[in-house]
Formats: sequence, structure tokens, C-alpha cells
Amino acid sequence: MKDQQIEINLATTRKEKPDFNNLQFGRTFTDHMFIMDYTEGKGWHDPRIVPYQPITLDPAATIFHYGQTVFEGLKAYLTKDEKVFLFRPTKNFERLNRSSARLCMPELDEELALNALKELIRVDRDWIPNLEGTSLYIRPFIISTEVHLGVSAALTYQFIIILSPVGAYYKEGINPVKIAVETEFVRAVQGGTGNAKTAGNYAGALKAQEVSSKSGYSQVLWLDGKEKKYVEEVGSMNVFFKINGEIITPELNGSILEGVTRDSIIQLLQHWGLPIVERKISMEEVYQAGLDGKLEEAFGTGTAAVISPIGEFFWKNEKLIINNGETGPLAKKLYDALTGIQNGTLPDSLGWVE
Ligand code: PMP
Repeated sequence: MKDQQIEINLATTRKEKPDFNNLQFGRTFTDHMFIMDYTEGKGWHDPRIVPYQPITLDPAATIFHYGQTVFEGLKAYLTKDEKVFLFRPTKNFERLNRSSARLCMPELDEELALNALKELIRVDRDWIPNLEGTSLYIRPFIISTEVHLGVSAALTYQFIIILSPVGAYYKEGINPVKIAVETEFVRAVQGGTGNAKTAGNYAGALKAQEVSSKSGYSQVLWLDGKEKKYVEEVGSMNVFFKINGEIITPELNGSILEGVTRDSIIQLLQHWGLPIVERKISMEEVYQAGLDGKLEEAFGTGTAAVISPIGEFFWKNEKLIINNGETGPLAKKLYDALTGIQNGTLPDSLGWVE
């Protein structure tokens, strides 16, 4: 598979570009997409870049019934001197392969996948927005395509990459979010699929999101699926707390998604010599630290927002306000450091962009 040539079939007409000043997340797609097929016994084959277009699937394709699908999310940035930066893309393809392994789906050659992505970005380069804070969001995904109403691992798949220009997440400075701690629904359990990036996890999370947003909370904080006691993650982000000078993030336990941003934050903190620990942390402990005045900051981390400070937790009918509902200095410092590396305004001392 490694040596396969990518066939390129360019679009004869190009779409009109959207206003890069006014982009809605995930609504506009570029002129081309990458696609490659998998057939059991033959492996991955026919890698190609084609005009962006709908795909045709049989209604009995297993993806529609049994949900064998995995995806990734990462970004490309255009630097001031017009270079294209990808932030730790190999981490995403490694995670895609781990997700595939969990769902009995075929793994990809990570090098081929990365080359395909670079080639696709080269073809659609003029879609990378160049305004501050903007980027090109990249969505690689795999679907099972076998025509079979039977619960077994499919014998055919497609790997597709689509690209979407996205605007600045924060238009007027970083804004803290209000989070409801979810005490009824759970996102994942150990032994389940929580650490795989697969569609079912997101479909199952919608109900809690719907309920909490009705009360004015933008996302939910998930607790462990067994005791609903320990903190797992927040919405589509990993979570960090600064308590009494120490930074704590829940340890990876099989039900939390291993975020690329999470890993980058841990490495940055270590690089700066700040105390960072990965361990179990209960909501009780977070709440008590808040009452004692020791909870200095809380923030979520993920590709979309990079850092999302948390200004309030709502838990068991109580509101816990953090840092007066404002962005804390650590969240700001991490945000500036990470976005600076990503957009090329700060040196890439940890070797993260390519
Ligand atoms: N948790 C979940 C459930 C997510 O969907 C994401 C976004 N991929 C994250 C955490 C953060 O991961 P990353 O930093 O790789 O974007």
C-alpha cells in the first residue's frame, strides 16, 4: 500500500470561496476530497483525489445499521510567510488506527494517510483561510460499506478525507464556558468505546447536551460510567484543573478519549517545569477545592477551541464559580503558547509542526 500512487482527478469548475471573515464551523467544504477503498484480502487500494462530491452507498451498507465508523479532527494553518503547518498529524492517524482496531476495522498505513492528506491540502491550498485564528479543519474518516444486514465486521470500507475552512473560535478574546456536571447520563464505561473516536459515542452524548443547553450550559462534564463519581471529560474536550498550585488531569483509563491537545498541554507544562499530574479526580474533590478557595482554574482542551476556560460548574443544584468566571492566567498562557506554535508566530521548540 505504501508505494501506491495517488491518482488525481481535478475539478473542472471551482466553487466560490466563502467569506473567510464569516465562517461557520463545518458548513463549507473545499473543491476536492481524498478517497481510498478497502477490500478484505486485497487491502487498501485505489487512493485518489477527486472533486468533492456525494458518495453513493447501498441502503444495506453496514455503516447505516451497525455503525462501524471512526473519524479524526485536526487542523492546517497558514503562517504569515505562507507556509502550511500541520499540528502533530501523525498523532491523529495513530489514534485513528487505535479507534479502528477497537471497532474491528482495518488499519491504515499512517505514512500513506499523511501523504494523502498533504497532497489533498496541496490541491486545495487556496482554501486555507489566512486571517488570524482561522484554519483549515481536516476530517479523515472510515466507513464500512459492505452490503450485509448481519452483525459482523464488514469486508469492505472507504477511507475519506474532507476539508473545511473554519473561522477563529474566539472572535473577541477567550471566553469562559459554563458547564453542567452530568449526573444522569454517562458517555462511556471502561471496556466500552469511549477511547475510540467513533460516531456512536457522539450520538449517545446528544441527549445530555440537549438537556443541559436548555438550562443555559454550553457543554456537560462527564463523570465515570460506573459510579458517576470521577471526572472524565468535558463535552468534546479533555479537562484540567489547577488546585493549590498543582495541575491535575484525569488519567487515561480506557473510557476517556486521548486528546492530542491534552498530550501537548501535558508536555508543555512539563517543559515549563510546572507540576502536572495525571490521576483520578472526583467531582467531590473539585467541588471541595472550590469551596476552600483552592480551585484556581479549570479548562477544557481540544482541537477546535485549543483551550476553553471553565467559569462555572453546575453540580447537584449548586453553582461553583471559578476564578470569578474569568479566564485564568494559566489557561491564557497555554492558549498563547499552543496557538503561537500552530500558526508559526512562536518557535516550534517541541517539534510539533510539519
Ligand atoms: N474528548 C472527546 C470526546 C473529543 O471528541 C475530543 C476531540 N477530538 C477531545 C476529547 C479532544 O481531543 P483532541 O485534543 O485530539 O482534539
